[in-house]
Amino acid sequence: MLLAALPLSLMGNWEERREEMVQVQIEDRGIHDRAVLRAMGRVPRHQLVPENQAGRAYGDYPLPIGHGQTISQPYIVALMTELIEVGPESKVLEIGTGSGYQAAVLAEIVKRVVTIEIIGPLAERAQEDLKGLGYDNVEVIHADGYHGWAEEAPYDAIIVTAAAEHIPPPLLEQLRPGGRMIIPVGRMGWTQNLVLVEKREDGSHLTRNILPVRFVPLTRGRR
Ligand code: SAH
Repeated sequence: MLLAALPLSLMGNWEERREEMVQVQIEDRGIHDRAVLRAMGRVPRHQLVPENQAGRAYGDYPLPIGHGQTISQPYIVALMTELIEVGPESKVLEIGTGSGYQAAVLAEIVKRVVTIEIIGPLAERAQEDLKGLGYDNVEVIHADGYHGWAEEAPYDAIIVTAAAEHIPPPLLEQLRPGGRMIIPVGRMGWTQNLVLVEKREDGSHLTRNILPVRFVPLTRGRR
């Protein structure tokens, strides 16, 4: 019954659309990490976006997920995931759970994902959807992610999916030496840069601008 609103032509071929997305939007644009391509080929993105967006889930653009927030375009998710260089033993912290899609992609690759969302209803919805899809290695926390989640630190990698005006010091602190963080940095309405942060063994860090992006802002104070 729930699918009744979708045109018949869109039903039943989600896998094909997903394969095409991976090929055309991701692999052909230079993402080569096999684990990332495999994860993007497996996560049912159409089941994590709002029902009325399911038909557009595999398109080459961001989508609204309610509460004024958006889920990134698939290529950006793939790029950010590739850049943090994680594997089967990694523990990753995500700030900005949103739909739970990025967390699911990570969950396909790593051992454990802790993800923080500031908007209560989004956190709840993502938690339910991720459990429903069997992602038992993801923990969704309703909090202000600026402070990270010290209880489970250090993390092998941190991925921030909302734009911050500066790199939050608590996140740098919770990153394992040798670990990587990817974060959009810049003000609302200004050009933001996707920044890759590498924490050296001596605790100092290096930053590198990857490309200009546009993300929703990292806000403060739990809602
Ligand atoms: N990664 C998400 C996309 C998130 S959009 C996905 O795959 O769908 C950015 C999200 O960051 C929004 O849901 C927004 O509510 C959340 N957010 C903004 N500021 C935050 C903060 N300080 N702590 C945690 N989440 C925050």
